[in-house]
Amino acid sequence: MTVALDADFFRRWMSAVSAAVDREADQLTELDSAIGDADHGANMRRGLTAAVASLEEEAPSSPGAVLALAGRRLISTVGGASGPLYGTLLRRTGKALGAEDSVDPGRLREALRAGVEAVAQLGSAARGDKTMLDALYPAVEALGDSGDDFGAARRAAEEGAAATVPMRARRGRASYLGERSVGHQDPGATSSALLFAALADTAGTVATGESA
Ligand code: ADP
Ligand code: MG
Repeated sequence: MTVALDADFFRRWMSAVSAAVDREADQLTELDSAIGDADHGANMRRGLTAAVASLEEEAPSSPGAVLALAGRRLISTVGGASGPLYGTLLRRTGKALGAEDSVDPGRLREALRAGVEAVAQLGSAARGDKTMLDALYPAVEALGDSGDDFGAARRAAEEGAAATVPMRARRGRASYLGERSVGHQDPGATSSALLFAALADTAGTVATGESA
């Protein structure tokens, strides 16, 4: 199955992430209160609400422009570390998608790979540091060669987030806790799982022809 993913698909994906973060904001904040400063839910909610509002106002016409605009809004509205990190993920992914009207899933996968690398570089972080990267890397890999195994990516992101529980944080605020960061799920890895769950949901409505 080859699907062309257009700007509308990417707008709906961002709306779905925003809705999921709204629903899960309290849980994200609770996780961040255990190993951070209890603002991850509020940070993500503020950034994504602003991103979705800008997407509705400006209606960018290409997938790349949708992600670039959403990324800029996250950077400009979120004070915490997650703003620049998620903003970079979306901007870099958008840049890699270029200016075409639509992209295939294989192209999206490659673009996401570049986006995740940019996050690792910005945060000087690697897999196993107990950050969002522990959900993002496995999710992008699980998309598969053709890039359209969205269900597998969703599961890999969820498993990646769960796998942060026994890790000791080596980056971000949680790293200040040292050994005491063990035993808690990383908030950013948890929101990254929401990003991929929303992608799978959005792709599901394309495959079955439903409208969102
Ligand atoms: P802050 O830590 O500034 O309060 P948030 O609470 O919104 O920002 O986001 C925290 C999340 O950001 C962490 O759970 C982690 O996943 C991610 N994070 C923090 N620092 C880094 C880093 N250097 N590299 C990658 N991800 C990071
Ligand atoms: Mg925080």
